[in-house]
Amino acid sequence: MTHLTAIQGDITTLRCDAIVNAANTTLLGGGGVDGAIHRVAGPGLLEECRRLGGCNTGDAKLTCGYELPAQYVIHTVGPVWHGGDHQEEALLRQCYTRSLTLAGDVGAKSIAFPAISTGVYMFPADLAADIAVSTVRNHPKVKDGEVDVVLVAFDAKTLSLYQERLT
Ligand code: ADP
Repeated sequence: MTHLTAIQGDITTLRCDAIVNAANTTLLGGGGVDGAIHRVAGPGLLEECRRLGGCNTGDAKLTCGYELPAQYVIHTVGPVWHGGDHQEEALLRQCYTRSLTLAGDVGAKSIAFPAISTGVYMFPADLAADIAVSTVRNHPKVKDGEVDVVLVAFDAKTLSLYQERLT
């Protein structure tokens, strides 16, 4: 029984307990996966996000999913890649662990992650895949089988980076 898998697809279509959003520090929406999530969730999501007062890089905050098939959205802010000597790796790891902790707090058992920071934040995709797989795989909740995690790749290249690391 494996509790960590990877698929290619659009995270906004997934009917799981929680999907993770690669947000920015304002939590007021943006492009990429953030824009897609807000478009599908509808205006209720933005309204709840406004009340959260932003989010620090490496941290995460939880909202309802509104019109999304997922019950919750966990908004995490990945680091912008500035060459690798600005705590980028540690901050990206923290995004995954903080998101899993929040998911646990509300009893979410199935969680989907996009490839945080690998879009406009320019984190190298292979290093981001290393971090995603190792951090999630070694998380106690995943090891114990308490939660199932799916890493959602938007493109085939990202999916193959995950698959190489999951075999
Ligand atoms: P960041 O600002 O953290 O880099 P982006 O949204 O620009 O966030 O990109 C993060 C990743 O999400 C990229 O790999 C991008 O291809 C992917 N992505 C974009 N839209 C979706 C979607 N609808 N579902 C899943 N992943 C998506």
